[in-house]
Amino acid sequence: MIESDVVVIGAGVMGAATARELVGTGASVTLLEQFRVGHHRGSSHGRSRIFRLSYPDPMYVAMAQESLALWCRAEEQTGATLLTVTGGLDAGEGIEANAEALRQCGVDFRMIRGGEAADHWPQVNLRDHSTVLFQYDAGIIHAERAVETFVASAVEGGAKLYEETRVDGMEQDENGVVVSAGGHAFRAAVAVVTAGAWSRPLLARAGIELDVVPTRETVAYFSLHEPSPPTLVEWGAPAVYALPSPGHGIKAGEHVAGPAADPELDGEVDQGAVERLSFWVRDRFPSANPFPIDAETCLYTNTHDQHFVLERHGNIVVGSPCSGHGFKFAPLIGRRLAALAAG
Ligand SMILES: Cc1cc2nc3c(=O)[nH]c(=O)nc-3n(C[C@H](O)[C@H](O)[C@H](O)COP(=O)(O)OP(=O)(O)OC[C@H]3O[C@@H](n4cnc5c(N)ncnc54)[C@H](O)[C@@H]3O)c2cc1C
Repeated sequence: MIESDVVVIGAGVMGAATARELVGTGASVTLLEQFRVGHHRGSSHGRSRIFRLSYPDPMYVAMAQESLALWCRAEEQTGATLLTVTGGLDAGEGIEANAEALRQCGVDFRMIRGGEAADHWPQVNLRDHSTVLFQYDAGIIHAERAVETFVASAVEGGAKLYEETRVDGMEQDENGVVVSAGGHAFRAAVAVVTAGAWSRPLLARAGIELDVVPTRETVAYFSLHEPSPPTLVEWGAPAVYALPSPGHGIKAGEHVAGPAADPELDGEVDQGAVERLSFWVRDRFPSANPFPIDAETCLYTNTHDQHFVLERHGNIVVGSPCSGHGFKFAPLIGRRLAALAAG
């Protein structure tokens, strides 16, 4: 029996951030990952994610403000560049609500005419939008680097990392939880499940129902040699977004547009989505090469209302907060899951 205060299941960005936070509180931590850290089968791979404060709900704006401070602190503590500020543009349906929420939270932003956007960022064409929102503190999070940095810092702090160790059972008793994985039994006072798209069946085995649906989303990469543009989200059905992807140019995707998916199966890129993204990039980024240099899939774990699930059931803490927009909040979510684990 291998013992620690907390077992964290899953070393994507949420598990990594939680493990790092827990060792900071002095807890002994075991971090279990079914593949290798940095693998491409879950939700946290790829070079970048959008960091934005712009949300229609002030609660998320406030969470992004808190998270921004935590990303900056993590950079100071680790010496790694995790966030690059590029500014962020929102265009399309509902941006007035985002503006109102930003105003309420005292966040710097400007509403500008779509045609005026090209005066500031000649790489971006938003002329057909009467008004767009520009948010100064938006940017990109260096995603894979963030996962590696959080895992490395958890391990330096004493966490024991077991890769290629798949959890196949969890049982609660009066002393905590026994987790079985890779032929070993791990005992802890608390288990934190940050297993992304795999969470639902894993939790079901412990009698906990998690109402989430994984979908497989396609993203495509396009070369763009000019200076990095701001991040862009064009809200609609579906929302389409683009962000700088260091070494590639830009990455583009459609938000919650992919089919329901079984995370156990290898995913295939949706060529229809790549074609639509290619047309969109041709229109919105006239100086980018609209022929994709690469495309890949990534899993969303969706709740019905796109909110996150952060809760404690006995000695098991559930952290399945993807819904396609969780990365920016990872240090904050790690902190909250660690607090739930501490009771
Ligand atoms: C295409 C795409 C674009 C996105 N864009 C943005 C964005 O711009 N901004 C933003 O804020 N967010 C974005 N997100 C969302 C963000 O990436 C996710 O919220 C985040 O990565 C979720 O991390 P996670 O740790 O919950 O899941 P994962 O990264 O999938 O980690 C779960 C881990 O658990 C492991 N695991 C599962 N089952 C077991 C088991 N039984 N035993 C051991 N280990 C197990 C898995 O192997 C995996 O490593 C995007 C997501 C995708 C897919």
